[in-house]
Formats: sequence, C-alpha cells, structure tokens
Amino acid sequence: MTKIESVNVTKSYKIRDLGNGKSPDADTELLALDQVNLEIKKGEFLVILGPSGCGKSTFLDMVCGLSKPDQGTILIDGKAIDGPGLDRGIVFQQYALFPWRTARKNVEFGLEAQNIDKHRRQEISQEYLNMVGLQGFENRYPYELSGGMKQRVAIARALAFNPEVLLMDEPFAALDAQTRDILQRTLLRIKAQTGKTILFITHSIDEAVFLADRVAVMTARPGTIKEIIEVPISREEKLMDDVQSTPKFIKTRYALWETLKEEVDKAQEICRSCPVEECSFAEKAGGNLAGLTPESIPQKVRVQ
Ligand code: ADP
Ligand code: MG
Repeated sequence: MTKIESVNVTKSYKIRDLGNGKSPDADTELLALDQVNLEIKKGEFLVILGPSGCGKSTFLDMVCGLSKPDQGTILIDGKAIDGPGLDRGIVFQQYALFPWRTARKNVEFGLEAQNIDKHRRQEISQEYLNMVGLQGFENRYPYELSGGMKQRVAIARALAFNPEVLLMDEPFAALDAQTRDILQRTLLRIKAQTGKTILFITHSIDEAVFLADRVAVMTARPGTIKEIIEVPISREEKLMDDVQSTPKFIKTRYALWETLKEEVDKAQEICRSCPVEECSFAEKAGGNLAGLTPESIPQKVRVQ
C-alpha cells in the first residue's frame, strides 16, 4: 500500500542579483528539483541518497509541508499535502531542541499542543525517552547533553505524538562515527518495534545500505530520481555484528556507488561553476564533496 507519493514534483528557487558582479546579472531561477516521481510504501524504510545540493532537503521540506511544489503533487494516504501535520514527525540534522526545556519537556512539547493532561504526558514522554535509551536523563537540559543524546531527544520528540511517518533529514550527519553507528542501530530497533513508515535522507552510501529497505538515488541538480535499489538484507541481519563485511552488503554498497559516482562528479562541477559567491556549497567544491569521492570507498568494496 502506498503511504507517500510524489508525482512530477518540480521546484525552483529565485536567485537574487547581489550586484557584486559575481552573482547572476539579474534575478534568475535555479531549478532544484525536476519531475520527481517516487512512491513510499506503508511501513517501508526508504532512504533518499544523493550528492550535496541535489535537492534532498528541498524535497523533504515539501513532504513535511513546509513548502510547496511549483508543479506536481505530493500525496499522503492519497491526499495532497497542504502544510505540516501530526501524521508526520520530523528530525533535522541540527537538533532543533528548545534550550530552555529539559529533555522530558522537549518530548512533551507536541503533546501540550494537543491538550493531553500532565500525567498522561509524563507517561508518554517516559515511554519514548526509554525507547531511545535516555532513561536517567529526563531532567537534563540540551546544553547538558552530548550531540548524540540531543538527537535521541529529537527522535523521541518526533515519535511522542505517534505519527505514522517519520521524516529525517541527515539526522546523524553531524555526529561522530561511533555515535552515528549506535544511533543507526537504535533507529532500526525503533523501526522494528513501531513499524512506522520512514523517509530518511543521507549523502552516505553506508548509512543508506545499513538503514534502507530501498534506496532512491538522486541525480545531481536538478534533482530527480535516478534509480531505486533494493537492499536484500533483513533488519535482523543488519543488527547482527559486522554486517558491513558480508558479501550482500558489499555488493549493494558497490551498486549504489556505481550509480552515484557520476552524480557526485556532476555536483562538483555544478559547484565549481556556481556564480553565487555566497552559496554555502561553493566551499566544498574544491575538495571532497560531502565525503563522496572514489577514494572514500574502501578497496574491498571494489568487487568485480
Ligand atoms: P541537499 O539537501 O541535497 O544538499 P538542498 O535541497 O538544500 O540540497 O538544495 C538544492 C539546491 O537548491 C542547492 O543548489 C541550493 O543551493 C539551492 N537552494 C536551497 N534552498 C534555497 C533557497 N532558499 N534559495 C535559493 N536556493 C536554494
Ligand atoms: Mg540537505
């Protein structure tokens, strides 16, 4: 059964003339997404993988209901998305916690808006704080928590009002490798426990293989879906030790790299030729764009 469907979604941004001779001469349009067609099934863990600047966040923002397509539609349960809703929980890369609220009060935020009484709110927040492994930290403020713990709070907060869908935009990208690994495992366990539909965005091939049932690979800008690759590894297998060195994992990682590498090259070229001096992607253009270079793929992945 289809949970979310994107039909011919196209989105452009206006680029302002900054009058510095380096930006475009006149206001121009930058085509961020071009005819994105994608179906996410109910209960599926779908990962969108693509190079930096290809339009992943642009797409997710529209699924969140924070912005609208210029053309095309995004449907949830067959109805066009028309703004944010309690059917979707969101986790961004930056923790976006309320600094003046404790972990528990952050998790309870959405519940307060629903007029759920204090006792029930406490029960629910405790349940989800336990689920993300934060028992004992309920009364800490964000500044007293590590990056990984903050992101655990953000996940608990997104789950607390029991949305059917979890939307995650590079939620682990700012964390160190070990913390990322632990949180990926936590997320897979939560997925197994709750059966939620998850749409997760990343630029990391390894993260995509580890988490996804299916991976939708995007092209460089203007972003569109290039290919969808199934990951033939069960959640149980993924939670076993060292699944990364199994032949199935290595093969899938290689297939994704084969599809993605051309797009990474293109994304780097787009960055180099970008006339907008202030563009934050430009600084990445000189080197390793979002960690995706041929050298970043371990030798053992290069199977024949
Ligand atoms: P990704 O999440 O894949 O890194 P984004 O969706 O953030 O990519 O951005 C896609 C493209 O749109 C990029 O070239 C980016 O510079 C541009 N872009 C994103 N947001 C805006 C905006 N508000 N105004 C102008 N250009 C934008
Ligand atoms: Mg992004």
